Amino acid sequence: MIFEAKTSIKKGEMISILKFIGSPNFDTVSKRKIKYIIIHYTGMKDQISAIQKLQSKVAKVSCHYLISKRGNIFQLVKDENVAWHAGKSRWLSDLNLNLKSIGIELVNNGNEPFEKKQINSLIKLLQFLKKNHQINKKFILGHEDIAPKRKKDPGPHFPWFKLYKLNLSKKR
Ligand SMILES: [Zn+2]
Repeated sequence: MIFEAKTSIKKGEMISILKFIGSPNFDTVSKRKIKYIIIHYTGMKDQISAIQKLQSKVAKVSCHYLISKRGNIFQLVKDENVAWHAGKSRWLSDLNLNLKSIGIELVNNGNEPFEKKQINSLIKLLQFLKKNHQINKKFILGHEDIAPKRKKDPGPHFPWFKLYKLNLSKKR
């Protein structure tokens, strides 16, 4: 597996820890406009199995960032590349959102509350990405929003109202 000691977020930003761990599952494009941020939970029993899947050439899935329960942020795919997290998806007139989005996975089995430290790191990452890519808060969405028939993540435990109060989500 690719292991690079590289960070794409510069020193001085509000990001606590960021390690580039890489994934082979991405596409390169000449230039892309990032319009969306899509939030997921991993839905697996633990962090190790989630990372293994997100790096597996067989599973063919990935995301840009994964946030551990302790709040550590790992990057698997660079922002400029297209990660494979959304699948068949739609929002308004946009189809198949991978091309236009950044995907963030939260380590969570899908049936438990999110950790406070994890949400705090997510908030810092969203603030950074929103500013860096000029993303409208109405396009910070959950996987369940863009693929409602197939997906339930990030699910009912996810604190959308907290994000709304911080100007990181529309009211919902
Ligand atoms: Zn998902």
